[in-house]
Amino acid sequence: MHYFKNNFILNQSNALAWFTIPAFEAGGLVTHGFTTRHGGVSVNNYAALNLGLHVGDKPAAVLENRRRVYGALNIASDWVVTGEQIHGSKVALVTAKSGHNILPGVDALVTNVPGIPLTSYYADCVPLFFFDPENVVVGLAHAGWRGTAQFIGLKTVQTMSRAFGSSPENILVGIGPSIGSCCYVVGEKVSNIFVDKFTYWQELIQPCGGQKWLLNLWETNRRMLVDAGIKAANITVSNLCTACHGDLFFSYRVSGGITGRMASLIMIH
Ligand SMILES: [Zn+2]
Repeated sequence: MHYFKNNFILNQSNALAWFTIPAFEAGGLVTHGFTTRHGGVSVNNYAALNLGLHVGDKPAAVLENRRRVYGALNIASDWVVTGEQIHGSKVALVTAKSGHNILPGVDALVTNVPGIPLTSYYADCVPLFFFDPENVVVGLAHAGWRGTAQFIGLKTVQTMSRAFGSSPENILVGIGPSIGSCCYVVGEKVSNIFVDKFTYWQELIQPCGGQKWLLNLWETNRRMLVDAGIKAANITVSNLCTACHGDLFFSYRVSGGITGRMASLIMIH
């Protein structure tokens, strides 16, 4: 195991490599991870561990890659649930095993049912992980700029509270590898949306010349969640930029759009 200064840990099994959040390991209640591009059978732009179907890769390769990840993380593959991921802010409550399922219009998932793996797919957008060890509730949220500006992280916390009685002060959060403020250049339209929505926008946006700005989605989500009652000490930020680390991650921006997907996964034992 390799400890990064960001406090996510890189785990390896054979060629497969994936990140975990140390705080989430306490009590052995959940299995979780965020994959890298290492350990799969896909080639070219999708090399090697592409987990996204419908991104142009061979389905047989993607299914083999997924099988390897499910095996390494001890994931119950028959019950995997994922959202359609439309860059919205709809949070789905998953209350029963219903087979391998893709939920329409959904970007965040919450469950308290053991044995249901929640998954989401990424290539630069921000993966948010949620775990309430008191009530044993887990969640994932897909937060690109649109989801972030629609407060999807806050809505996920609210869903955990409303449905399962989770107290924000007990919820652990992981903000996973995604495009960092070092690389995430946005135009005036996106910049203005963040100025309008966040009173602390000056901490989120830096001008970088020519009507362009660098946007910090990690800090936006972190601040939003602290404001929602999550303890700052309970938030683990990976500080790993997918655009900077082409050796570890797929990046939509760096690739020009033809690339693979990493996955976030979490399941209550
Ligand atoms: Zn970067």
